[in-house]
Amino acid sequence: MTQSQPLSDQRGREKHKLRISLTDRCNFRCPYCMPEDPVWQPRERLLSFEELERLSTLFVTRLGITHIRLTGGEPLLRKNIEHLVSRLQLLREQGLQRISLTSNGILLPKLAGKLQQAGLDDVNISLDTLDAERFLRLSGGRSTPQEVIDGIHAARAAGLRVKLNTVVIRGYNDADVLPLLEWAIKEDLPLRFIEFMPLDGSGQWSRDKVVSEEEILATVGRSYQVERLAAGKEPATYYRLNEHYSLGIIPTISNPFCKSCNRLRLTATGELYACLFSATGRDLRGPLRESASDQQIEQIIRGHVWTKEAGYAVSQGYVERPITMHALGG
Ligand code: SAM
Ligand code: SF4
Repeated sequence: MTQSQPLSDQRGREKHKLRISLTDRCNFRCPYCMPEDPVWQPRERLLSFEELERLSTLFVTRLGITHIRLTGGEPLLRKNIEHLVSRLQLLREQGLQRISLTSNGILLPKLAGKLQQAGLDDVNISLDTLDAERFLRLSGGRSTPQEVIDGIHAARAAGLRVKLNTVVIRGYNDADVLPLLEWAIKEDLPLRFIEFMPLDGSGQWSRDKVVSEEEILATVGRSYQVERLAAGKEPATYYRLNEHYSLGIIPTISNPFCKSCNRLRLTATGELYACLFSATGRDLRGPLRESASDQQIEQIIRGHVWTKEAGYAVSQGYVERPITMHALGG
């Protein structure tokens, strides 16, 4: 197979976006993401920066990946992450269009400037509530909303584009939809509400904890005039509020976007997941460390992606799997 062939699955979905988890470790313990007492992967199992650079080069130059997002766990816990970003930056001439990050924001006051200088384009920052008590519950008893806000301000001051992500969970932060929205509008920050997915560590997910797109819209509609915008390529549906602000909602559960999914995920230990809800991934670390050629690794990736499942749209319900969001890379 050659570089000109798009990376696609048997259902005709081409892949252009790769999420790379840099670590499964985190300075938070959000219960919707990881078990209460997570067991971290031993460091020697994590892909080194050299291995990540080799795989990223291969994904961009031979497989047509144009967007790379660094995530985790908390990716900013990975020491010298800016060095990796500066290596990825060299792939721009070969087709990489965007380098992004997803973070809980706490370490951004220290790192935002270095990351921007290294070539990072934008950062999605997770903020589930502005209420200090609820924040502690949602982050597993760590930090304060103000620390995340400081991270947001630092990222913007450094010149990074910032978006906010909020997972909405009934009984946890459904009361925060309007306060967060008002705050985001005041700060002129794009915000996306995300439906709670069955990828937590301790089986807390249940359908009744999912606050659906429809319910979020009903809440928002009580305070704002809402107009649905034309569908784009993103998983989020966008709505114009009071004719000026764009709000996104990611309806993974009530209206899965599997039919147009163009993403892949690489775990910190080098397993490639073609779908968030796949039961297993394909190990790439073994072949990498056993000196497989680029061509051999390309074949392994193409073979794995080809067999990508239809997705959550057909499996629905609780997905019993050994891997949770913090290890998979959200
Ligand atoms: N630590 C970083 C952060 O919190 O942004 C990056 C990793 S985190 C796994 C990435 C995103 O996944 C966050 O926005 C988080 O809210 C989201 N997430 C985690 N578990 C989720 C779940 N069960 N359902 C929906 N979103 C989830
Ligand atoms: Fe950590 Fe992000 Fe998961 Fe929260 S959502 S535990 S911050 S990886």
